[in-house]
Amino acid sequence: MKISIKRKFIIGFLLIFYIGYNTMSFFMNKLIVENNKDIIKKELLTFEKDLTTYLRQYFELKNKDMDSNNFNNSSNDIASNLSIKVGSRIMIYSCEGKFLTDSANANGQVLNYEDIDNKQNYSDEDLKLSIDNKSAFTIVPIKDKYLVVFSCPIINNNKNIGIVRSVMDYSEIFSSSKKLLKLTNTFVLLVFGVIFLFVVLLATKITIPILKLSKVTKEVAKGNFEEDITINSKDEIEELSLDFNKMKNKIKNQIETIKNDRDDLKKIAGHRKVFFDNMTHEMKTPLTIISGYSQILLKQDFNDKEFARKSVKKINDESERMHNMIIELLEISKVESKITSDTKEDVNISQIIDVACNDMKIRADKYEIHIEKNVDKEVTVLGNPNELRRVIINIIDNAIKYGYINSTVNVKLFKEHSNCNIIVKDEGHGIPSDKLEMIFEPFYRVAKQTSRETGSSGLGLSIVKKIIDKHNGDIKIISEESIGTEVHITIPLKVYNIVTSC
Ligand code: ADP
Repeated sequence: MKISIKRKFIIGFLLIFYIGYNTMSFFMNKLIVENNKDIIKKELLTFEKDLTTYLRQYFELKNKDMDSNNFNNSSNDIASNLSIKVGSRIMIYSCEGKFLTDSANANGQVLNYEDIDNKQNYSDEDLKLSIDNKSAFTIVPIKDKYLVVFSCPIINNNKNIGIVRSVMDYSEIFSSSKKLLKLTNTFVLLVFGVIFLFVVLLATKITIPILKLSKVTKEVAKGNFEEDITINSKDEIEELSLDFNKMKNKIKNQIETIKNDRDDLKKIAGHRKVFFDNMTHEMKTPLTIISGYSQILLKQDFNDKEFARKSVKKINDESERMHNMIIELLEISKVESKITSDTKEDVNISQIIDVACNDMKIRADKYEIHIEKNVDKEVTVLGNPNELRRVIINIIDNAIKYGYINSTVNVKLFKEHSNCNIIVKDEGHGIPSDKLEMIFEPFYRVAKQTSRETGSSGLGLSIVKKIIDKHNGDIKIISEESIGTEVHITIPLKVYNIVTSC
């Protein structure tokens, strides 16, 4: 069974209160009774002294010896006189404890204590002790009154001559101590009440944040990390809630990282599969052609020289194609490996573009394509010069490959903000807009026949993208079918540290 913290607090407090209150009441009662007994004892000692003095004087006045005989004979007189003198009921007993007289009968009642006659209300213990020469008293509570029955042996010449027993009213002293006890109890109840209220408030203050914490923990267990705990108690609980939020957000981030990593791994695995599928397919095509032509040539009865020449050319072309493809695959592997990425140096892009345009001129002339340059001087980036050269050559080569005969290829280089921008624009077939997003995938070719050369493998742009990414740059292709293509490349410029000295 689940018991809430608040309930535990309240039950615990009530238990402490019950035990504490009862123990305190018990001891307070005992203390008050003992205190009252001490007061009564002191008063009775004085009474005992006065009584002995009175009896001595009484027998002297009567000229009688103070012995048991005379005491017994004068018991009526002594009882009534004493009763009037002290204002209490007086009973006289012989030294053996035999009842002799009672002021209530002898003298008319001074006080109506009929209840005292009811033996059930008190014991004769005090009387028995007085027979043994000891004075003693018994407290007798009757209705709302407290009566004290005091037995006092009358000793003369070390001899007990009789016993005087008086009944005195001590209600007042007991009722005032009762009042004090009541007042103390009320005060204690009040204090406990305030403490109880405090305990309830404290328990609520502690349990509310715990409940909030437990609710959010359950949500976290379900995988919901959105809700934060907000507690403004300015104490350890607020600290705990802040730490909990931090921990929750950390777990959320970790889970997101794991999810992203998993998705990335899945993507990589998918890409790898597509890559290998494409690669085997691309390798298979030239191999099938080579194998087909070789088989024909190997036939012994084959003697068509013209066909043989064409077949050898085809075998040579396909071998070339495969060779280029392998070189490009090696390039991809090189770019992806970390070996080259660490070797970064100042690269003068302006120079690279100038040289590349010159190198490509012969190729462009072949198709009557004019290369137009618009290049800013001394544009420097930090990177790998070989890789960046490969990017420029690849883009200009594509512009020539896919540009119309007798057209212009425009090459631009300029600085903008903290970047260097390279734009290569051609006038050619262009790329359909729905194919643009696939253009950087390895082995992807829009249409095999659009390339005027057999060497096209579909790996060039994929290598270019990898190199640009490695240089923290960006590549974008804008194209319009039958009009032409624009390749925009952005690479961060080299940052120069300005050192000032005083
Ligand atoms: P490749 O040119 O060897 O086929 P690329 O990766 O360089 O491989 O290019 C992929 C494909 O993108 C090409 O096959 C071609 O269809 C298309 N392409 C690239 N550049 C251009 C361009 N300037 N104009 C038109 N199509 C282009």
